[in-house]
Amino acid sequence: MRKCFNCSKELLPETKHIELNDEVYCIDCVEVKPFTEYQFYVSGEWRGDTYDGDNKVVEDYEDEYEVGDDV
Ligand SMILES: [Zn+2]
Repeated sequence: MRKCFNCSKELLPETKHIELNDEVYCIDCVEVKPFTEYQFYVSGEWRGDTYDGDNKVVEDYEDEYEVGDDV
């Protein structure tokens, strides 16, 4: 019997569920949040995406650049 790894509720065939690290969960036990990735184009040319951890959008409040750092 296929059961939710968290609450042990049976997951019958044709039941929406979550597969997570080789374990199955009912949708009541898992909070699903959207995770947005971005792709970046410069002059129409693809230059990277946020799947690569080095690429990101730095929000203004995250920007720690100080004038004079790049002497
Ligand atoms: Zn469950």
